[in-house]
Amino acid sequence: MAVYKIVEMGEPILREKARPVPRITPNVIKLLENMADTMYDARGVGLAAPQVGVSKRVVVIDTGEGLIELINPEIIGKEGLDTEYEGCLSIPGITGEVQRAAMVKVRALDREGREKEYVGEGLLARAFQHEIDHLEGILFVDKAQNIKKT
Ligand code: ZN
Repeated sequence: MAVYKIVEMGEPILREKARPVPRITPNVIKLLENMADTMYDARGVGLAAPQVGVSKRVVVIDTGEGLIELINPEIIGKEGLDTEYEGCLSIPGITGEVQRAAMVKVRALDREGREKEYVGEGLLARAFQHEIDHLEGILFVDKAQNIKKT
């Protein structure tokens, strides 16, 4: 088990567009595994590689229904709207209401390089959108209303 240090808002990498993964190497697998360890250690439901200082389009999510590993994820469908409070491991102690799609369809590569599609609703839909925003350098506070301390 290896836990990375989570970088916090103010670090420039959180504002950069992350780079696509051209090839799934042993280093990418190790990144996925260490990111999952880091997410579980921090009791988060999602983590994007820029949050551990790595500019790669890699995300891990677990909203309680098992670990999802996403490489080069893309949102390919959206439906409905939903507003909920959310937070971010890179912005500790802050929460805010963010309007997001209620349902999203995501296409990504898995660790074997196979293209997979996922459909998420509720918290999972929110996690997909929040983490994929990180790959674009977007933080939830950019979109949030009623920001408050937790
Ligand atoms: Zn976040």
